[in-house]
Amino acid sequence: MDLSVGQLEIRSMAVSSCCTQLASLLPSKVSFPGTSSYETTQSSYWSIQEASLTPSCIVIPSTPQDVSQAVGILSSMPDCHFAIKGHSHMPAAGFANIDAGVTIDMTGLNAVAVNDDQTVVSVGSGGSWLDVYAYLDPLGLSVAGGRNGLVGVGGLTLGGGISYFGPRVGWACDNVVNFETQIVLASGQLTNANASSHPDLFRSLKGGMNNFGVVTRFDLRPFSQGEILAGNIANPISERDAVFKAFSDIAGAKEYDPYASLVTGLSYNSSVKGSWSIATTAAYTKPELNPPVYDELIAIPSTGNTLHLTNLSTLSNETNTPPLNWQFLTGTYGVSATLMSKIFDNLNSTLYDFETPGSWAFWSIAFEPLPTVFTQYGDKNGGNSLGTSPKDGNAFIMLISALWPNSTFDASVEETAEKLTADIACIAEEMGLLHEFQYINYADPSQDPIDGYGPKNVEFLRKVSRRYDPKGVWQKQVPGGFKLGI
Ligand SMILES: Cc1cc2nc3c(=O)[nH]c(=O)nc-3n(C[C@H](O)[C@H](O)[C@H](O)COP(=O)(O)OP(=O)(O)OC[C@H]3O[C@@H](n4cnc5c(N)ncnc54)[C@H](O)[C@@H]3O)c2cc1C
Repeated sequence: MDLSVGQLEIRSMAVSSCCTQLASLLPSKVSFPGTSSYETTQSSYWSIQEASLTPSCIVIPSTPQDVSQAVGILSSMPDCHFAIKGHSHMPAAGFANIDAGVTIDMTGLNAVAVNDDQTVVSVGSGGSWLDVYAYLDPLGLSVAGGRNGLVGVGGLTLGGGISYFGPRVGWACDNVVNFETQIVLASGQLTNANASSHPDLFRSLKGGMNNFGVVTRFDLRPFSQGEILAGNIANPISERDAVFKAFSDIAGAKEYDPYASLVTGLSYNSSVKGSWSIATTAAYTKPELNPPVYDELIAIPSTGNTLHLTNLSTLSNETNTPPLNWQFLTGTYGVSATLMSKIFDNLNSTLYDFETPGSWAFWSIAFEPLPTVFTQYGDKNGGNSLGTSPKDGNAFIMLISALWPNSTFDASVEETAEKLTADIACIAEEMGLLHEFQYINYADPSQDPIDGYGPKNVEFLRKVSRRYDPKGVWQKQVPGGFKLGI
């Protein structure tokens, strides 16, 4: 939402009053521009678009009770807008930061603990997946979580969450047994949402992002886990059709191997015309060196293969990228090597003429299986609200990522990325392979992923929102992110 200068001034006056109130109630937890804690949060954003926004103050809670107090003040002042920030890996501006408002930086709540009988892992919602895996690996346990350890537990889980274990246990959110959440109705009291207490809120939070409250703790179901096979297989771009066929044979198999998890990605650097490359990040979530599921892929002439046995905390310990402009867009399609080949042709013809004089833009187009063995968990354990179901058949999710250093090219990159996504949707539709589902954690503000959950889920989410948030605090005062449209 773009505000005029006048609106920004009015908003700034209102927000300076709530920052003052927050600072008097939580003096050591509120920071202002120019202080080191404010700058630490601002410099932690993954994208330039998010880091460029300047909140009037930042609240950094260290206990769930701090969150309750902050939400109590903010929700009592309707002109005070705020954002909720986890590990800030959602690139779109305003999703986890705000101009002329308050940002709640949850990363101080990052404790990980397992109960005595090792049936529940409790994770502070500001933790990263690396925090979780580093704690669980020595115990021989794991949970369904992000593949990059720097990503936040909060955003990933509230949007669904694709892990290496998806075909074994479903979306990351399908493995939540309880959300401790600060909603607005309970005035200061934390609410536990699980299969028997507030089950409607429990289901809504599995896909509902920041539309229902601030989650302070996720209780996750762990499972025994040792080493896994993982690595990268790079192929010459001339072998792309063979790679698309191998991907489709795995992703579209009648009996999907539940231990197989892969991402096949095309990459293109706009400063070098025609510079396509193709590689597959493959994992097998058992300590098996040569699982037959990858035989076809491995038989394709390759330029490198790094498959090896490793553990989650080592594998997910990726280095941070320097701040760049980023854009994510997504689509979901029925599995077809022909469609993947047509997608490549379309990308190639559009990107061939795309230029960023004197600079560069990097494009990555990733394909990830969404088989029925994965989506079958959607109605178990209280159900989720994503609308993915085995009746839609084996599918794959596409993530288009664009990254570029020079903000002068924002408009041309965004226009091109949106055109690519729309063209691909048309191609898939013509082939009868277009799915309604758009994975919210990969979606762009120009898309409407909540609509893609389907009318019944959308109606359910709106009903639950009206029940727990009659004044629409999370809809009106938290403008960032995908909203329910009420
Ligand atoms: C490098 C990289 C790797 C990725 N890998 C994966 C992957 O393996 N699997 C996958 O599924 N996705 C992946 N993603 C996408 C990722 O799931 C989303 O970007 C996710 O939203 C990030 O969560 P976050 O908490 O880090 O982000 P943030 O940007 O901090 O938050 C994202 C959204 O969630 C909301 N939110 C965060 N915490 C809370 C909370 N406690 N209560 C209420 N709302 C909250 C925020 O308000 C915001 O709107 C990846 C993204 C990147 C950039």
